[in-house]
Amino acid sequence: MTHYPIAIIGAGLSGLTLARVLHVNGIESAVFDLEPSPEARAQGGMLDIHTDSGQVALRAADLYDEFRALVHTGGEALRILDRHGVVHLSEEDDGDGDRPEVDRGQLRDLLLHSLPPGTVRWGRKATAIAAVGGGRHEVTFADGTVITTDLLVGADGAWSRVRPLVSDAVPAYTGISFVETELLDADTRHPASAAVIGGGFFFCLGDRKGMLAHREPDGSLHVYTAVEADAGWLDGIDFTDPSVAKKAVLTRFDGWADELRALVADADGPLVPRRVHALPVGHRFDRVPGVTLLGDAAHLMSPFAGEGANHAMLDGAELGRAIVAHPGDTEAALAAYEGDMFPRAERSAGGSAASQRLLFGDDAVAALLDQFTSHADSAVPTIAVVLASTRPVRVGEAVARWVLDRAATRTDARFELVDLAEADLPPLDEPLPPALGRYTQPHTQAWAATVARYDGFLFVTPEYNHGLPGALKNALDRVYAEWNNKAAAFVSYGHDGGVRAVEQLRPVMAALQLADVGAQVSLNLRTDFVNRELAPAAHQDAALATTLDQLVAWATALAPLRVAA
Ligand SMILES: Cc1cc2nc3c(=O)[nH]c(=O)nc-3n(C[C@H](O)[C@H](O)[C@H](O)COP(=O)(O)OP(=O)(O)OC[C@H]3O[C@@H](n4cnc5c(N)ncnc54)[C@H](O)[C@@H]3O)c2cc1C
Repeated sequence: MTHYPIAIIGAGLSGLTLARVLHVNGIESAVFDLEPSPEARAQGGMLDIHTDSGQVALRAADLYDEFRALVHTGGEALRILDRHGVVHLSEEDDGDGDRPEVDRGQLRDLLLHSLPPGTVRWGRKATAIAAVGGGRHEVTFADGTVITTDLLVGADGAWSRVRPLVSDAVPAYTGISFVETELLDADTRHPASAAVIGGGFFFCLGDRKGMLAHREPDGSLHVYTAVEADAGWLDGIDFTDPSVAKKAVLTRFDGWADELRALVADADGPLVPRRVHALPVGHRFDRVPGVTLLGDAAHLMSPFAGEGANHAMLDGAELGRAIVAHPGDTEAALAAYEGDMFPRAERSAGGSAASQRLLFGDDAVAALLDQFTSHADSAVPTIAVVLASTRPVRVGEAVARWVLDRAATRTDARFELVDLAEADLPPLDEPLPPALGRYTQPHTQAWAATVARYDGFLFVTPEYNHGLPGALKNALDRVYAEWNNKAAAFVSYGHDGGVRAVEQLRPVMAALQLADVGAQVSLNLRTDFVNRELAPAAHQDAALATTLDQLVAWATALAPLRVAA
């Protein structure tokens, strides 16, 4: 019987991200998956990778640049249609979006190939698991092999074998059934369908059902036909015969426009049925020594907000970081990970359930349009959370995430991460003073465009040698008009809360005509962090709320000045 200090059951996005984050931090783990090989099951479909979850995980995995190379250009285009085929919204991908689309299989391969060969043991289906005392577990696989481990991680998806060790919860049917279809080489073979769907994501809704589709980088169309139906509906359809299955599905879409019905009628290959299940929103479990869950195993949610894979990866990254931050103390690592994961998962599962209600409710097209147009409403300010540390290892990232997390519940502003490490600005190299606005360097022009997009800035800044970080001063000095008549606030961190960095920043704000609010958050490295993991004292949440209130109020109030300028 082989013993592994860390055994991860499941080589999906969550398990692989955990293994990768551990690996980049010098900790090896063993991953076990029931699939006979990595190629055994097609990993089709597109995923949009969110700035505040999936992208955070890919940075922690040190794979962010490689991920950007996989992004499907044009994939953030969006269309919303009704059942008659009337287009209510059509947006092209302007390359500016914060939800880049990647092929799920390519993303999985990126993670897989970033691990030392042999990390994933294929063809190992966990069939029985027993606690053997002292936090250890014994796992028996279908091939008869048995292992023991000090830390058992259930990353084994919706129907997790590991979950029963910590929870009695089982996924429940959400009332929505999917039938997936594919139309291959669409521009040539299905030009009308390609034209209906457009270059990216497509919603067609009505009658408490819908068709949701993506155009994929290989030119195929991947369509989810979604129907509100009882749990037995799919069982009554013979999916071994595609023509019979198509007919059965299309009876649910009587009266829908022909070009929409064609997304099913003209599909290539088999139709794939899938019932949508979810765990209860807010699913939690007590700390059980030596075992925890990631991703769908912990918080299976309906897929209608595109959050599941993003949070699965974030879980993997966060658990990896917690293990690194608590050497020799697995229980402290698991407690820290779960303490953050439960509320985070509850919020996104709640959002996913709300999205499902919206998409399959009455007047779904109008409700979805409302959601998109209120998102695009220019009356609501857009605030950049500027991460000012550019160091490869930085606590600032956790601080920025905490800010974004708290800000996510607000409806009076939108918040986005702007990471100075990504802006990659060299020391000021403009020949003319920035106040003249004649920027010559491409990196300055790109930075000016970034700054121009926002109505306010929350600077998450460290303090270096009793002062502000050079990278932040360089970014501030590089452009001028783009900062004017906007609001600013600070969340600083350091041995004395980073307050001296903020005091130095305030006169700079005045020079740039940035209105800096009075409230601020000062996180002390001694009292608001444990082992360099962010653990803000209780009063900091209130301080952040006040800071955000003031920042949003001033960013909103200054709007007329920005219009006039
Ligand atoms: C139709 C659909 C569309 C979706 N679209 C999106 C989207 O657009 N955006 C998004 O963010 N999320 C989306 N999701 C959700 C997303 O797919 C999941 O949340 C994500 O894959 C979860 O990752 P995971 O690693 O937790 O689990 P999984 O990806 O399910 O991986 C689990 C792994 O464990 C293995 N395994 C299972 N049981 C065992 C066992 N007993 N022993 C060994 N190995 C085992 C499996 O083979 C698998 O490789 C969608 C889900 C569905 C169903």
